[in-house]
Amino acid sequence: MTAIVVLTGAGVSAESGLPTFRGPDGRWEGHRVEDVATPEAYARDPVLVQRFYDARRAALARVGPNPAHAALARLDRDWPGAFLLVTQNVDDLHDRAAAEAGVAEPRLVHMHGELTSALCGRCGARQRWTGDLSGAPDCPCGGRLRPDIVWFGEMPYAMDRIDAALSACDLFVSIGTSGAVYPAAGFVAQARAAGAATLELNLEPSAGSYLFAETRHGPASRLVPAWVDDMLARA
Ligand code: NAD
Repeated sequence: MTAIVVLTGAGVSAESGLPTFRGPDGRWEGHRVEDVATPEAYARDPVLVQRFYDARRAALARVGPNPAHAALARLDRDWPGAFLLVTQNVDDLHDRAAAEAGVAEPRLVHMHGELTSALCGRCGARQRWTGDLSGAPDCPCGGRLRPDIVWFGEMPYAMDRIDAALSACDLFVSIGTSGAVYPAAGFVAQARAAGAATLELNLEPSAGSYLFAETRHGPASRLVPAWVDDMLARA
């Protein structure tokens, strides 16, 4: 049975109404990434950074999973072989789609952290957080709570699990990601080295398109359900 690893990026959530990172102006919701997505930015201006992520967290309440999230949740639920969904997204739309599909334990990794989680900057404890972090009480250890987001220069989560899945996979599929942020941008090469087939589903050719054996271009809400239906029909 084919072992599948799927990597998603901001493009999978675009049709839910969450803007991508590298839109036409190369900014994230009007901000330069250096000003909101680095430890240095947080050290320099914690109020601005907390407010930025508070706004992103609040925006989650106004959006929902789209057909691409729903299709990937169905694949997780119904695929009898090994499966891992690795997302670079910090939104919770894959999680909500999995819950809606009745997946008790989603085979899902948020490698860049989660908006709905807070991280203690001192002891490293993580806790679920759905409101604002601005003005939140400190962690019981006395440390300040920060967004549980992997900023540029920090180590992504679950790299051991991801590496193991990539080296054992037969099929690697990248969905809605520009292929500009490492280490995720290197996953396709890792999967190819393991002998996996590779497929890119993206609105347009990405920086790394040439690394994939097959590419399909169009909106995720159309391409992903079609691909999932095809996979499940062959399962
Ligand atoms: P990116 O913004 O760099 O690239 C998005 C890609 O999606 C582009 O290649 C674009 O052509 C494609 N795309 C846009 N609309 C699409 C659609 N409807 N269907 C299919 N493809 C579509 O995103 P990235 O590669 O994920 O960038 C990495 C960083 O951005 C991550 O670290 C992530 O944490 C952060 N980010 C996350 C969110 C989120 O959680 N929703 C939103 C913005 C940025």
